[in-house]
Amino acid sequence: MPEKSLEEYKKKRNFQQTSEPAGDEKMDARKKNQFVIQKHDAGNLHYDFRLQVGGVLASWAVPKGPSADPSEKRLAMRTEDHPLSYGNFEGVIPQGEYGAGTVLIWDRGRFRNLREEKEEKDMEASLEDGKVEVWLEGEKLQGGYVLIRTGKDNGQERWLLKKMKDEKADARRNPISTEPKSVQSGKTMGEIRKT
Ligand code: MN
Repeated sequence: MPEKSLEEYKKKRNFQQTSEPAGDEKMDARKKNQFVIQKHDAGNLHYDFRLQVGGVLASWAVPKGPSADPSEKRLAMRTEDHPLSYGNFEGVIPQGEYGAGTVLIWDRGRFRNLREEKEEKDMEASLEDGKVEVWLEGEKLQGGYVLIRTGKDNGQERWLLKKMKDEKADARRNPISTEPKSVQSGKTMGEIRKT
């Protein structure tokens, strides 16, 4: 069953032109709580932070990318839900298409919903509330992260992404600059752009 929340995703893209997934695949029920962070150079460089919620990836565009430092707040603009299969997409979106530019799989893994553990709030309820707390088990990012909705800009939800204070917090680490390569292919943005 194609997900209803993918309508906006599909409307924005021409799948004859782009190699991004069309999102019609059946979801794999065995895979749960996946997250992915894609570095996306679409003229404006940003990091797309995506968390599996049901059969889709709830998504935010984070211009400065996530931090391992709990004193850093990062702007995160909510974007349209993406299909689960988008988590495997790395490549170049052609000129003239929506989001044209290079996409690199910067990090991925599983997450735990901390609000579910504390107060039985599932991810859908957390998104409605405007407060998401997850524990990431990625290759580059680990530990608790919180997303808080702070308002709207022209109909688009504005959130803040922040590292929680826990044993994985580390103000000296800056993985955005020290670990730029793809966790899928080992490639740099430049190498993906050339393929
Ligand atoms: Mn993007």
